[in-house]
Amino acid sequence: MRSQDGGRRIGLRAVLTVPVIVLVVSVVLALFIAEEWAAREQTRSLLDRRAETVISGISARLDERRRNKILMATLLAREPDLPILIERRDVVGLARLLVPLRATLDLDFVRVVDAQGQALLTVGEGEGGVLMSLVPKALAGLTESSVAVEGHGLQIAAAMPVKGRGGIIGVLTVASCLQSEELQSLRESDDLDLVVLKGPDVVASTLRDASLQQIIVQLGGQGVASARLNESIAAPGYIAAIREAMNGSMVVLIATHDILDATRQRTLTMMLGLLGIVSAVGLIGMIYARQLTRALGNMTRVAASISEGRYDERIPESHIREFNIVGRSINRLASQVDEQLKELTRRAFYDRLTDLPNRALLKDRLRLAMMRSKRRQGHVAVMFLDLDNFKIVNDSLGHDVGDALLVALADRLRLSVRPEDTVARLGGDEFVVLVEEVADADEARVIADRLLEQLTQPYQLDGHTLFAAGSIGIALSSLEATTADDLMRNADVAMYHAKSAGKGRCAVFAPEMNEYAMQRLALETDLRGAHERGEMRVVYQPIVRLETGQVIEVEALLRWDHPTRGEISPTQFISIAEEAGLIVPLGAWVLREAARCGKAWQDACPDSPIVLGVNLSARQFQQPSLVDDIARIIAETGLDPHLLKLEITESVMMHDVDAAVQVLNQLKALGIQLAIDDFGTGYSSLAQLRRLPVDILKIDREFVSRLEKDPEDEAIVRSIISLAGSLNLQVTGEGIETAAQAGHLRELGCAQGQGYFYARPMRAEEFRRILAARTPVLPPSAGAANGAATPTKRSRPARKAS
Ligand code: C2E
Ligand code: CA
Ligand code: CA
Repeated sequence: MRSQDGGRRIGLRAVLTVPVIVLVVSVVLALFIAEEWAAREQTRSLLDRRAETVISGISARLDERRRNKILMATLLAREPDLPILIERRDVVGLARLLVPLRATLDLDFVRVVDAQGQALLTVGEGEGGVLMSLVPKALAGLTESSVAVEGHGLQIAAAMPVKGRGGIIGVLTVASCLQSEELQSLRESDDLDLVVLKGPDVVASTLRDASLQQIIVQLGGQGVASARLNESIAAPGYIAAIREAMNGSMVVLIATHDILDATRQRTLTMMLGLLGIVSAVGLIGMIYARQLTRALGNMTRVAASISEGRYDERIPESHIREFNIVGRSINRLASQVDEQLKELTRRAFYDRLTDLPNRALLKDRLRLAMMRSKRRQGHVAVMFLDLDNFKIVNDSLGHDVGDALLVALADRLRLSVRPEDTVARLGGDEFVVLVEEVADADEARVIADRLLEQLTQPYQLDGHTLFAAGSIGIALSSLEATTADDLMRNADVAMYHAKSAGKGRCAVFAPEMNEYAMQRLALETDLRGAHERGEMRVVYQPIVRLETGQVIEVEALLRWDHPTRGEISPTQFISIAEEAGLIVPLGAWVLREAARCGKAWQDACPDSPIVLGVNLSARQFQQPSLVDDIARIIAETGLDPHLLKLEITESVMMHDVDAAVQVLNQLKALGIQLAIDDFGTGYSSLAQLRRLPVDILKIDREFVSRLEKDPEDEAIVRSIISLAGSLNLQVTGEGIETAAQAGHLRELGCAQGQGYFYARPMRAEEFRRILAARTPVLPPSAGAANGAATPTKRSRPARKAS
């Protein structure tokens, strides 16, 4: 069943054209009817007029002849001999006089009558009856004339009194007859037929059509009535006009065909003219209707496409004002919606902050790029870039600066790749660079290194000089990574790998990394709640004066006793704790724990104070409550803040030197000592270093371990130590494993050292025992005494790049 609404609908074109067509058709019909009627009416009146004119023409001619006859009779009557001859009743004399005159005057008939009305002489043929009727009046002195049907034609006669000495002595009558031939000439000149009737008899006729003559004779017998006659002869195509004459009548027959044709022709022309006008009106109507329907058609088309969700079509300008108004409003609405949709699409596919493609668009492009590369048998490289320590910028300098850094960074990335490559932002500080047509992993690595180098150039933002560093994970499309998602995941895994390998570097995905990533994920799961389950503990590694081997400091190091995996190095889980947001409470716990022990040692050996070193991670350092938290812990534990030393890595401080200086100053104000951890691995400049209110530089283990083998490393260590000297900073060498290293460092002017050579990290009680012994942990010369310190059994040397 068809719904009420879905019923058949008539289009506007039909609505407008049907009435126009109906109108035109009815007007044409009406015109035909009117033409028929008008033609008939016109013919009738034309014929009437024609008949009238013909009859009156003939009458005029007859009257003229009558006047002629009167004139002739007058002329004859004035003949001086005539009265004498009448008086004498001289018939012969009359004949001698009148016969030649009759011929000269072309009279058919001349008759002379005496005063008594007796005919004296008749010349010519003719009936006397009609003429004689004129005589009495002529005798009375009047000139008489008449037209009569007489004999074989139409007779025109005149009677004239003849005066003698004693008054009227006689009458002269003259007459002539319109003979058939004369009628014939009339017919020819006027193109009509004449029938002269006397009673029922035809006296003269030009008619050749016997049947017509028959009709006239029949009707003539009853006295010709023009209406009836016309009725009867209309069918053969004639009309008649009748002139009554004495003793009969003259019937004029006029053929109607020509006249009818003429009027038909005229009305047809007129009708065609009208039809033309009507058609023109119809056509104009159609044109207007077409404009109307075209405008509405355009509107409906655009409306339809709008309802289908396409907003790119516009209604063209129309000649009709109202339509234009409506059309423009619809167009305006459509373009607004179009723009909004485009904006929505932009938002759906582009990152709002950096205007870079977002994850959705990236995936799309990646899919296409993979398809292309498959055809060309090349590689697509996905480079997953994650900034190192971006959160510090964000939290220390505010989100505006963080955003500005991201925008600046996005611009640099964009400029560092080819136009056909895609730089996308996945959110936060995660970017992906999609590079098409890469030959192999080496080429990808070169590109990634270039990107990282670009990235690490300083940024001048809002009066701050900022440094950014990032890690890049690279995945190349190959048979293993069949989907875009695989490739992205691989790049992500490789990026984590790069990060944990020491940040600021790139790593190319290898299938083994997946394993690593899985482990990492598992570690993260286990790490949650590890502290609550009591799996965490703090160990302490002594730091000695290299000259004497005297323990002067101790570094607190976190340990995780995993229930199934055993002891896990902080190098493996600190970064996970950072990312999982677990480091802040964990770090606070370490500090409290260490501070408690530190306070105990301080109390136990008040005369040889031991400085307690505690590591601060990037996350902790950026924590706004850092200074307050530390102050509280110091207050809680009663530790002398001058014996607390916080170790912060170079990159964390250098990220935003201004902000770092501020925090460091606050810490210093509490009396705390500050150390730059892992010094030498970052990019600190002397100028920046000068600004940091630090006390100690800890030379990174990497340099110490290569001190003996690599003269370059030796040069670095030497310059670090001289730098520290010039800045009046203490120097601690980390990771001293051999006597040679210890000796070398000492030679180079490094005052303090830390390493397995002296002692491994140990439990608090153990360290306490060493302190109580008040002996150097290891005399600088006696490397063998290493065993004196009981290293934590399960502790493994921490490898930085695992
Ligand atoms: P770090 O601050 O540079 O600490 C020194 C690391 O070097 C320790 O590793 C230590 O065991 C190791 N080490 C000391 N002497 C030697 C040596 O002679 N040879 C070798 N190969 N290694 C030596 P550990 O304990 O595994 O800690 C690794 C890193 O984890 C630390 O490096 C530190 O950055 C971080 N970390 C440790 N505990 C904490 C903590 O409580 N909080 C924070 N934020 N980070 C911590
Ligand atoms: Ca440290
Ligand atoms: Ca260190």
